[in-house]
Amino acid sequence: MTERERSAGAPRGGAGAGVERERSAGAAGAGAAPDVAIVGAGIVGCALAAFLAEAGAAVLVVERDDVGAAASGRNSGVLQHPMDALLAPLFAGSLPHYRDLAEHGFELPPEPHGVLMLAPSEASLAGELDALAGAFPELRAEPLACGEPASLEPALAPDLAGVRLDTGFPVGPSAATRAFAARALAAGARIETGSEAALARNGLVVAGVRRPAGAVVVAAGPWSSALVDRGGGRRPIAPLWGVVAEVRLEAPPRHTLEQAGIEQLVASGGDPPPLFSLVTTGAVSALGSTFLPERPDAQALVPLLRERGARFVPALAGTELGAVRACARPLSSDGLPLLGRVPGRSDLFIASGHGPWGVSLGPASAKLVADLVLGRGTVPAAFDPARFA
Ligand SMILES: Cc1cc2nc3c(=O)[nH]c(=O)nc-3n(C[C@H](O)[C@H](O)[C@H](O)COP(=O)(O)OP(=O)(O)OC[C@H]3O[C@@H](n4cnc5c(N)ncnc54)[C@H](O)[C@@H]3O)c2cc1C
Repeated sequence: MTERERSAGAPRGGAGAGVERERSAGAAGAGAAPDVAIVGAGIVGCALAAFLAEAGAAVLVVERDDVGAAASGRNSGVLQHPMDALLAPLFAGSLPHYRDLAEHGFELPPEPHGVLMLAPSEASLAGELDALAGAFPELRAEPLACGEPASLEPALAPDLAGVRLDTGFPVGPSAATRAFAARALAAGARIETGSEAALARNGLVVAGVRRPAGAVVVAAGPWSSALVDRGGGRRPIAPLWGVVAEVRLEAPPRHTLEQAGIEQLVASGGDPPPLFSLVTTGAVSALGSTFLPERPDAQALVPLLRERGARFVPALAGTELGAVRACARPLSSDGLPLLGRVPGRSDLFIASGHGPWGVSLGPASAKLVADLVLGRGTVPAAFDPARFA
């Protein structure tokens, strides 16, 4: 469990980049220089665009592919408590933003469906249970003896033990990002897709053309470090590739199902075996997942996912798997996001590094960075990019 020994620390001071101008800029007109240019239309970039545009900034988002083309549109699709004391406030802070998205076509389930952490024996879960119950009473961690998970979810193998957690809102992999993009557009932001951006002094270079901007926010997921530090000396954010396969089970579980151990696995690095997870939204379940440093051949990993999954949900052995997708988590080397000003640059910000929790935490992170850019707020020291300087 990532009960970290750090504390969140004092809020970090610092003025904004001065992009909040006297005028209310409104939409970034096609030819006009935006107040803020954002690189990346994932969950973080789209939420940032919505918050900044609604605050009156002229916003341009530059995305090399499409909205939600990377992990923000291809993930497992559950909003979930991150089980980490420093990250938990970002989850709590993101839920109200998700409730605000209803008019943009996003539906947050009224109550969490619950998460079942699963293991072959109660003994192997005892430490996990104590840590969770002590640190996060809001999760109402409930031990489940061998066989009890199957009585809650008949799709499960009968010999599993577990812990039930009061979290987990299934939402569909791309729904959140698309809704934030719609909200940003409604507030006057422009989203330019199919264009790769590079950083320049006072703005961006897009398709060889200089695009000045009052401030730039890099929300480019696993590619953020390489964009900010082209020399490669400091790259605290790296990709951690995951493969997910869609499956339609006859009687899909309502809970999100997870093999216990993701925390240790993400921290260990290397080339570990897949960990079982199954998230059901409507009739479709997302079966995952792998944690690999290099982009995998997704199809080649399907038999491994099925085999691992069938240990937990036996029906997976005989059910045809549907679409398979691979995407990369933007994982920072200390497991915490980088939110704030890039050291030594007053007009350059970064918002990335959420690892396996980006959809769950992205909106609150984006709000912190949007307020910082506008000169209205501070970001907890634990997330300050300067810690890697
Ligand atoms: C298999 C898997 C399952 C997951 N499941 C969940 C889940 O259930 N719940 C959860 O909370 N999280 C989950 N995650 C994690 C979550 O998906 C990510 O943390 C989150 O989507 C990251 O969002 P982002 O906006 O930071 O980056 P991304 O989604 O990676 O978006 C960055 C964007 O920047 C663009 N870009 C990059 N470089 C440039 C450039 N130079 N110019 C222009 N555009 C550029 C990319 O094309 C991309 O669209 C999962 C991740 C994986 C891999």
